[in-house]
Amino acid sequence: MIISGKELSTRLKAEMAEQVAAFPEKYGRVPHLVVILVGDDPASVSYVTGKAKASEVVGIRNTTIRRPESITEEDLLSLIRQLNGDDTVDGILVQLPLPKHISEAKVIETISREKDVDGFHPLNVAALWQKQPCTVACTPKGIIKLLKAAGVTIQGKRAVVVGRSNIVGLPVSKLLLDENATVTIAHSRTTGLAELTRQAEILVVAIGRPKFITGDMVSEGTVVIDVGVNRDPQTGRLCGDVDFAAVEPKASVITPVPGGVGPMTICCLMENTIECFLRRQSR
Ligand code: NDP
Repeated sequence: MIISGKELSTRLKAEMAEQVAAFPEKYGRVPHLVVILVGDDPASVSYVTGKAKASEVVGIRNTTIRRPESITEEDLLSLIRQLNGDDTVDGILVQLPLPKHISEAKVIETISREKDVDGFHPLNVAALWQKQPCTVACTPKGIIKLLKAAGVTIQGKRAVVVGRSNIVGLPVSKLLLDENATVTIAHSRTTGLAELTRQAEILVVAIGRPKFITGDMVSEGTVVIDVGVNRDPQTGRLCGDVDFAAVEPKASVITPVPGGVGPMTICCLMENTIECFLRRQSR
């Protein structure tokens, strides 16, 4: 079974649009997401455009603020502080990656925890690891939604996550653990990776290497979630970290690239923005 994140996210966004349509009467306004884009990296521009389009579908107000690549760290931080103090703003997202002269860590911790729709703030991350209420990072959250929508039982399963980044590998491992999977995290220094991935009943791959997971690395019946977004060096087309053509016949469930995890990330960003808005309304 190929699980379409595109279809699921379309359905979820329609449900959120209904919810948001009732907000002006109830709260006097709709949620407001501010996205900051530094520079003009084509991939970042396309992600930011996708976020604006999804906001429109859901009925969330979206403001994209563009700043040149040459912006100083202090100017960016002061823009964030200004948005933190702006009561009409519910969510702040700074599109990553940032130019080298700007510390991503400083940017992330400057965004107020309450407006951190990406779920990257150290306090949100700490809360996730302590099972406290928090904003959960969009991609990991979307992955769990995809698994559940596909009817996959997570509890008791051997899950292998390849990749240990702060934005995907680590948080998705924690969410799988919270769903009672038995989780192994692999990374670039893991030895015997293929042996490990063959033991997986659920395999999540987030490494950023085109078609890295080959057919012989996956056992029959495995649930495969491909997070990677890469350019195939041969065709120039988008592809995942998993060699889809070789793995799909063996997998019981697999996500395509594009149209799998990617749309779910944006969908969960919309959900996080609504959650931040509602939390602020109830204060
Ligand atoms: P990072 O570069 O931050 O992390 C990559 C991880 O993969 C690291 O932990 C690294 O290990 C590990 N890794 C690299 N090479 C290997 C290898 N040969 N064997 C095993 N592990 C390896 O990437 P991200 O987590 O940010 O992103 C991963 C992929 O997911 C990218 O393609 C990115 O574009 C995509 N992505 C997609 C999203 C979506 O919405 N669809 C959202 C976010 C990312 P080590 O820690 O040892 O260096």
